[in-house]
Amino acid sequence: MPGSSGRGSLRAYLLLITLIALVIVYYRIPKPCQEPLTYRIGTVDARFGVSRQDFADAAGKAASIWRKPYARALFREEPEGRIEVNLVYDYRQEAADKLKKLHYAIGTTKDAYDDMKVRFLNLKAEYESKNSALAHDSNAYSRRLGAHNAEIEAGRQRGAVTEAVYKRLTAEAGELNNIHENLQARREEVTRMADILNSMTVVINDIAANLNLDLVKSYDAGNKLGSEFCGGEYVSKDGKRTITIYQFDDSNRLVRVLAHEFGHALGLQHNNNPKAIMYRLMQSDSLSLAPDDVAALKERCSE
Ligand SMILES: [Zn+2]
Repeated sequence: MPGSSGRGSLRAYLLLITLIALVIVYYRIPKPCQEPLTYRIGTVDARFGVSRQDFADAAGKAASIWRKPYARALFREEPEGRIEVNLVYDYRQEAADKLKKLHYAIGTTKDAYDDMKVRFLNLKAEYESKNSALAHDSNAYSRRLGAHNAEIEAGRQRGAVTEAVYKRLTAEAGELNNIHENLQARREEVTRMADILNSMTVVINDIAANLNLDLVKSYDAGNKLGSEFCGGEYVSKDGKRTITIYQFDDSNRLVRVLAHEFGHALGLQHNNNPKAIMYRLMQSDSLSLAPDDVAALKERCSE
């Protein structure tokens, strides 16, 4: 029948249009102020000592910070939420934890950087002098031990040593043993110092990267420095959206860093108000939006 193939291709055409429309609807990123962005809790590393529920509560608090200007939720936690929110323990937290145990103050300001750098340079000088003295004394010990063992071997080959020589060698063996123990303790101390220096390098370079200050050279920690240090990051890649928190000092700061990353998820950039949630550093403990945050959100929502 003429026309039936025409109707068939029209149907196929309409089906195609419908499919395209569905794909567009599916992939359309909703405006943050129109409907809430959904998120889910992903990995929660146990080493932080924060339970999954505590982390979810912190995320809930952080999300609610953004509801203020429009008096409605901009985020909603769902089991299949689009944004995965993770708490991942990494070298930055480890370094900060190590230094905190040693009562170092950890900050993100230029003052904190200057203070830490002075301590770093002092410790580095002490490390270098102790390390070279240790190398020198280890060599001297090896030479003495070699001579001592050679004398014992020579005596053994002769079959006998005089009582005086025997007494001297016995006393020397005891002395060498003490030196060995002392060197071992010094080696452990130097290793501990190197470990602290590595932690300091990580912390100093994290601050430096943000403030455009000089980096300090790492010992053996390698170049693990992240490009931006706010304690977390928001990444949107290949249709996957993730918030990863690496570091926080207390529960208040955890909420704050989550709120900051939620801000990025809303499409907001950093601003220059040190009190703002979207300031590039964590300089304030405030858990409410600054006027700059509100202005950026309103601009984003009116797009
Ligand atoms: Zn940021």
